Amino acid sequence: MYERERLELVDKLSEKGINDIFVLKAIGEVERHLFVPKAMKHHAYKDIALPIGYGQTISQPYTVAFMTEALMLKPKFKVLEIGTGSGYQAAILFKMGIQVYSIERQFEIYSATRKLFDHLGIHVNTKCGDGTIGWDEFAPYNGIIVTAGSPNIPSSLKKQLLIGGKLVIPVGDKNSQILKIITKLDEDEFDIMDVPQFSFVPLIGREGWNQK
Ligand code: SAH
Repeated sequence: MYERERLELVDKLSEKGINDIFVLKAIGEVERHLFVPKAMKHHAYKDIALPIGYGQTISQPYTVAFMTEALMLKPKFKVLEIGTGSGYQAAILFKMGIQVYSIERQFEIYSATRKLFDHLGIHVNTKCGDGTIGWDEFAPYNGIIVTAGSPNIPSSLKKQLLIGGKLVIPVGDKNSQILKIITKLDEDEFDIMDVPQFSFVPLIGREGWNQK
């Protein structure tokens, strides 16, 4: 279903500057309409964010593609995602042959998406909890992707990154953020590239925003 719409979306993202063929291939394969509420299905292949309930959103396909491309991934890489949400971003990573670890703080979203992954045969390791402190047990990661806006760069995430690995995180206030693409050069040495202008829901947790 929606095959033509998916290919049109791939064309649009490629026109907008997404080059990584593995990212574009995954966008062409993952059925985004299965990750949005039923009433939104006919909007699933538009390049827009959509509400998924509980005040949260599924990110815009361009944003998913841009952040994934920024991670510069190779198959078998280990990636930690903070903010599982609908599961779409994690599904894209899984399709690219990545070992995915994903954390979601809201239990209702966590359990609905866990069920969806099982139903679709998407093998993603999930956990319900505060992702701002990372997932130490499986660290270090080749890449870490934060899909909610943070007031700062959580130090735990920098620690859990492999040397040479990349952390992609929106940092700013609650309405708008700059995407930081951070490369770990050495244990305490980081290269940071800024890309304006993004708008994510807030990252809430010990090393993110405090209140609900
Ligand atoms: N990657 C998702 C985008 C979800 S929106 C997708 O593809 O659909 C961001 C998600 O981050 C929300 O579900 C929100 O509940 C979650 N979130 C916010 N703060 C968090 C935290 N500290 N740890 C884990 N998840 C968090």
